[in-house]
Amino acid sequence: MNFFHLKSDSTKTLTLLALLLIAYLFSISMRLIWVGEFQEMEQSKWNNELMINTNDGYWFAEGARDILAGSHQPNDLSPINEPISLLTAWLSKIIPVSFETLILYMPSAIGSLIVIPIILIGRTLGQTGIGFIAALLASVTHSYYNRTMSGYYDTDMLTIVLPLISIYFIIFALTHQRNRFLIPITIAFSMTQWWYPQSYSLNTAILVVTILYALIFERRNHYVYKISLYIIIGILSLPIWVKVGIALAVFAFFHTKPSLDQKWFWALFAAIIALYFSTGGIDPIWGQLKAYVVRESVSDDAGLYFYNVAQTVREAGNIPFNVFAERISGHPITFALGLVGYIMAIIAYRPLLITLPLVGLGFIAMNAGLRFTIYAVAPMAIGFAYLLLLITRPIEKKWLQVIVLIVFTSTAIYPNYLHIKEYMTPTVLTAKEVTVLTKLGEISNPEDYVITWWDYGYPVRYYSDVKTLVDGGKHSGDVNYPASFVLTQSQQNAAFMARLAVEYTEQGYENNKSAIIAEMLKTYKAESVDDLMVNLNLDPTLLPKSSRDVYLYFPLRMMDIFPTVTLFSYLDLKNPANVLQQPFFYMSQQFQDSGKTIELGNGFSIIKDKNILKLGNQEIPIKSFYQVGYDANQKIQIERQQFASEGLNIIFMGSYGRFLILDDFYLNSSYIQMFVFEQYDPKLFEPVILDPLSKIYKLKV
Ligand code: MN
Repeated sequence: MNFFHLKSDSTKTLTLLALLLIAYLFSISMRLIWVGEFQEMEQSKWNNELMINTNDGYWFAEGARDILAGSHQPNDLSPINEPISLLTAWLSKIIPVSFETLILYMPSAIGSLIVIPIILIGRTLGQTGIGFIAALLASVTHSYYNRTMSGYYDTDMLTIVLPLISIYFIIFALTHQRNRFLIPITIAFSMTQWWYPQSYSLNTAILVVTILYALIFERRNHYVYKISLYIIIGILSLPIWVKVGIALAVFAFFHTKPSLDQKWFWALFAAIIALYFSTGGIDPIWGQLKAYVVRESVSDDAGLYFYNVAQTVREAGNIPFNVFAERISGHPITFALGLVGYIMAIIAYRPLLITLPLVGLGFIAMNAGLRFTIYAVAPMAIGFAYLLLLITRPIEKKWLQVIVLIVFTSTAIYPNYLHIKEYMTPTVLTAKEVTVLTKLGEISNPEDYVITWWDYGYPVRYYSDVKTLVDGGKHSGDVNYPASFVLTQSQQNAAFMARLAVEYTEQGYENNKSAIIAEMLKTYKAESVDDLMVNLNLDPTLLPKSSRDVYLYFPLRMMDIFPTVTLFSYLDLKNPANVLQQPFFYMSQQFQDSGKTIELGNGFSIIKDKNILKLGNQEIPIKSFYQVGYDANQKIQIERQQFASEGLNIIFMGSYGRFLILDDFYLNSSYIQMFVFEQYDPKLFEPVILDPLSKIYKLKV
């Protein structure tokens, strides 16, 4: 059955290297399809290179940029200690490409390393062929591809590779049973813990499976307990060098006098277990379980109830079986074959049991959300490859077997290839938006704040080097509240809150008081935020002294999510049971002018001669109608018609090809006034950059 079995050792090594290279290049080439599609699109490029397509990537890029620069501002939330930022900064010093090129290709180049542990696992089991076929499949399967594609600059590039390397070293040790193969286990687990601390649960599960493996199958084999010991050392919540130091010391202790091994092993084992429970224990595991499986909601401690961000996150939730199977193997049939093959492979090669935690975590996705499917990709690919080789074994003519293998492997890969061709994720920002942000960076100081919605926090910080209130990692209900308030309230309230939020956030870092809204209410002895705003209106001198400049960043792309932005501040903070009727906002980008009416979709239509808005059979008066557009000099032109004293307002944004239907709350919001109309109160704001896609104002209070 060993298809790639060859006689001499050097030919074997050469074959192995060739297979590793082929699989790696295959994985990379599939990741160049996206690059090829976007290469010609100038709006997706910056500094002559394609931009990245994941928001979080800009955070790591900010960290790497600051590491290379050698400095950053206190409390600017730049991740200068994140492993991915450190790795990027280091690579940027040794690889002669631009920073943009580096972060664009890092996910492809590093994520494709997944083929190495998979092929090596196959080889350790005496089945390099299984490893090779599994590597080809796993490297391009939907969920693995989606999170390691070119431009997907995130920690995912190693979160599967590293645990697979750990598992490979365990399987290797299990099959060779030599003391010197124990050290790499500790190193691999230490690296995994360092790169992605959330892998603590997975690593602990691998430990538990290894201990069970020893107890069930190799009860008398001292060596398997030793493997467990070196795993625990690697998992400990201690610095890498300490863990590797412990591993080397233990190795030296037992190696110099094997008799010590018998005498002291269990005492040492108990000591390391105690260290495990005293440094990390299982609390972090409970925390993760609660967050994803039990989905416990978090309450506020200052007596204020904010909007829970999880309420808008769609990822967590049950997913249909077909989606689940496609994400793991590319197609439900491949998945089914992979599962059958996996069970058979475990029976044939018992050490493969160590991969069970990956399968378990992957299958949690059925319940806990899409993000987990990625873990089951490699084991199911190994199962599929095993079954394929088993079925084709009876074919006597070797050339025929090769052809059959190629046909079936290609068939399994094909749906994944189709997915890759369709999965054309756009870059996070367009070149025009980046131009505006870099201009802002030139005008502003790195200590200044930019207030915008959290979705744009990381990219704004990367391109403008400023501070932000919220970002892709800091966006709980309480910190989103002031950002939402500034973007959705009238200009006067927005200006007050902008200054308050920035000064209280900075003071919060100093005094370790992060509940800034509660702090504001306390300081001003106000009952509510409305109350506070009234007080400030009466006496604006009560506003805190300005310690730095504050900018408001209004991007066009926020219009799509504007009602969601509103949710976070349009609420009763004191009484969560009092659910407020949300203000009205509707946007249409697909409309049809049929002469007498304009159809706006979703049952909305404008009856032109009666100046009314129809929703189904309901007639709503049009209060005012605005037509906004740009003239030849890019100057904004507004035409306003007043029809009624009550009703909804309509804005036709000619240059953008969209209609807005909105009530007075939204019409008066800072975003609509300052972005759509460019109408600002010159006492409160000063325009800095007015671009059709993004507008930036400086706060004057
Ligand atoms: Mn900074």
